[in-house]
Amino acid sequence: MSFRVGHGFDAHRLVEGRPFILGGVRIPFERGPLGHSDADVLAHALADAILGACSLGDLGRHFPDTDPRWKDADSMHLLEACARMAREGGYQLLNVDATVVVEAPKIAPHLDAIRENLTRTLRIDSSAVSVKAKTSEGMGYTGDGSGIAAYAVAALERSRP
Ligand code: MG
Repeated sequence: MSFRVGHGFDAHRLVEGRPFILGGVRIPFERGPLGHSDADVLAHALADAILGACSLGDLGRHFPDTDPRWKDADSMHLLEACARMAREGGYQLLNVDATVVVEAPKIAPHLDAIRENLTRTLRIDSSAVSVKAKTSEGMGYTGDGSGIAAYAVAALERSRP
């Protein structure tokens, strides 16, 4: 049995005219993350954590932002594909834990819906999916409203070597 841990990070600029999508949930807000896909930082950080645990590179390697196929892509589909790659590599996802850092909008009221989405996408028990939301108390790009960031870890195990 081999036990693996992966870490992921993502950040996007918040701009007008973009929907605010986090963990596949659309949250009403006047700005949203700018990116080639839907720029869902939580899905991206989790995908990198899962890929990292399996030493499979990162999200950009599998879904390059220069590829028109991923323009405005639903990042939950990309996350689902990464979880599938891990399973195909013989890994079982044990749990994920993520922290989203953003000043506004308030994420807490949406955490249940986000966790539900992730539970379905990752095909693990809801007790194994944790998402937290923080502010950075006005400091830096997550504090002045110009951006959003997410950090994630994933634990996986593989029964065959
Ligand atoms: Mg990203």
